[in-house]
Amino acid sequence: MASRNWIGGEWQDPSGDEMVVCNPSALQEEVGVVRFSTKDDIAQAGEAARRAQAGWGTLTPAARGAYLFRAAGLLEASLAEVAELASREMGKPITEMRGEVMRGVHLLRYYAAEGVRSIGAVIPSNESGVLQYTKRVPLGVTAVITPWNFPVAIPLWKIAPALLCGNTVIWKPAEHASLTAVRIAELFASAQFPAGVLNLVIGQGHAIGDVLLAHKELDAVSFTGSTSTGLGIAERCARRNLKYQTEMGGKNAAIVLKDADVAQAVAAIISGAFRSAGQKCTATSRVIVERPVYETFTEALRQAVNSIQVAPALAPEAYLGPVASAGQYEKVMSYVAMARREADILAEGGAAAGTEHGYYVRPLVAAGLDSSHPLIREEIFGPVIGVLPADDFEDAIRLCNETVYGLSASLFTRDLRLAHRFLDEAEAGMVRVNQETAGVEYQAPFGGLKQSSSHTREQGQAALDFYSALKTCAINFG
Ligand code: NAD
Repeated sequence: MASRNWIGGEWQDPSGDEMVVCNPSALQEEVGVVRFSTKDDIAQAGEAARRAQAGWGTLTPAARGAYLFRAAGLLEASLAEVAELASREMGKPITEMRGEVMRGVHLLRYYAAEGVRSIGAVIPSNESGVLQYTKRVPLGVTAVITPWNFPVAIPLWKIAPALLCGNTVIWKPAEHASLTAVRIAELFASAQFPAGVLNLVIGQGHAIGDVLLAHKELDAVSFTGSTSTGLGIAERCARRNLKYQTEMGGKNAAIVLKDADVAQAVAAIISGAFRSAGQKCTATSRVIVERPVYETFTEALRQAVNSIQVAPALAPEAYLGPVASAGQYEKVMSYVAMARREADILAEGGAAAGTEHGYYVRPLVAAGLDSSHPLIREEIFGPVIGVLPADDFEDAIRLCNETVYGLSASLFTRDLRLAHRFLDEAEAGMVRVNQETAGVEYQAPFGGLKQSSSHTREQGQAALDFYSALKTCAINFG
């Protein structure tokens, strides 16, 4: 398979550099070739999106929703095939990847249904004979810039509400999710979206990101990725007064209090930390344990982690696959080496057969670290977690908040009073009790505080606020 751009309803071969994609589970297997775009492709995509917006924006929302419903049906019918391609491209275990594709189907249907819901409010006027109301209007042309770790769900949770609100889209997926992106765009093409409503430009962020952000036709940008890239994008958008949304990194803590159900906490922390090989912005990466339960909890965690085996992503039983790319592997392994040098290794998983030639990182639990240590402070984005003891609830909250990030946090306890205090005091956009840090549902707002997020939310109804502008209308009919 070779990647292609989809611009103005036409499939095109970009003329930039090429990258051969090897399956991170088995590097000897070539999955396809990604061809990167040049400045000219971006220019064309912006113009196509602008041309299409006038017509698309004047369709009724229900008519726009009908296209999304069609795309949902096509994606559901292709679920197994799309999931397998994505697993081969970026290494997510196949059962997890199928769940992600199904989430994409739900997201498309959820936003399609918004086409027949209310889009404003009637506000009483102080004058008689005046009808005053608000309505949502499209922003125009939206750039959607996505990461590789959720190659289906993240693009769809941006594209679906953007289109439903009447915007047209230029989508620049991550380099390591480009083949999956082409397959998604093919399904949109089969759903017969009008030309130019969705435009796919495959490219390298560092090479064409600036050109995209400088495009004169751009009205808004929705980005998910690392904090350093996101802050740069926010700065550029602010200078042009473009509406922007940046969803960025995390260093999410799970707190285990002395009264917690230890088995429940261990299961949720294992899932939060090691699903997707820890490559989730909401992954659990710090575990803060109240001292009276420290020994019991860490022993249960040690046993559970020691029994996990990394396995090829397409193996039906795979729980923890490889990390996504050579760059990811080098970065995560540098933290593993740091842990071996500077931490106590509390637990380390094993490797199943068939993992000789891939980017596998065995799950690792580090302890004995100060809260200022890089392993505790920096986003690793791999299956490596650090455990910290806490004196009491107050100390645990202090440690939880001792980070520049604020994406998600969880608490394990049976004490409702402390649960409520945690929900108030944890500095994170998503706070969860007796649940893993990851796994916020698509119909609920998603986003963080501090350096994890700009000031808007994705998913749920909140996405509609981002992808539209509110107009206040008044008509004197007296
Ligand atoms: P990244 O920042 O390297 O890349 C994200 C996207 O931005 C890619 O499409 C990339 O090509 C593009 N990009 C890179 N430089 C650019 C530039 N100068 N201008 C425009 N676009 C540019 O991130 P990544 O490695 O793909 O993803 C991992 C990161 O994403 C982690 O930090 C993770 O926490 C974060 N993430 C956050 C969320 C969230 O919702 N908060 C969700 C998933 C991932």
